Amino acid sequence: MRLKTEPLLDAATIRARVAEMGERITADFAGKPLVLLTVLKGGMVFAADLMRHLDLDVELDFIGVRSYDGFHSQGRIEWTYKPDVDLQSRHVLLVEDILDTGRTSKAIIAWIEAQGAAEAALCVLLDKPSRRVVPVTPRYTGFTIENRFVVGYGLDYNARYRHLPDIYEFDDNPC
Ligand code: 5GP
Ligand code: MG
Repeated sequence: MRLKTEPLLDAATIRARVAEMGERITADFAGKPLVLLTVLKGGMVFAADLMRHLDLDVELDFIGVRSYDGFHSQGRIEWTYKPDVDLQSRHVLLVEDILDTGRTSKAIIAWIEAQGAAEAALCVLLDKPSRRVVPVTPRYTGFTIENRFVVGYGLDYNARYRHLPDIYEFDDNPC
């Protein structure tokens, strides 16, 4: 399996969009201390870039779930890490790499709400709306993409490719 030679989204395009998203979020959450809850591991690179565009009182934490093994979503969620911060009455921004079937985000948002958060807003770098199984609408979306399996900029295929600065599709896409 090989990656396509040309990225689907190059680093400069991603950088510009992430900066715009940061400005939007800064304006929307003005005066509200924010908990930036990053979904491990895929959301890590996006969150690291995004938070440096937030001119807000930001507390960073992580949430870990396993829901995807290789190319096909398993449709089940396994918790691997729960945040330390108390989410009671907090404004939470859930930062995810990609929204696919919606199962992961839906489960995490339900959990955040059950902790008594004041709000749980979803922020995704990529959205594949054609793949949605459960209804979830992000408040912030970086890019809407076709039904393609992508890697890079945090996104992996069996734990590889997360370090790539650009986002790629595979040459022989099995989706
Ligand atoms: P969902 O629960 O929405 O089906 O799945 C979301 C998770 O599936 C994402 O956080 C991500 O880990 C994984 N995922 C979905 N689509 C892709 C993709 O195109 N590439 C990679 N690397 N992971 C994906
Ligand atoms: Mg993932």
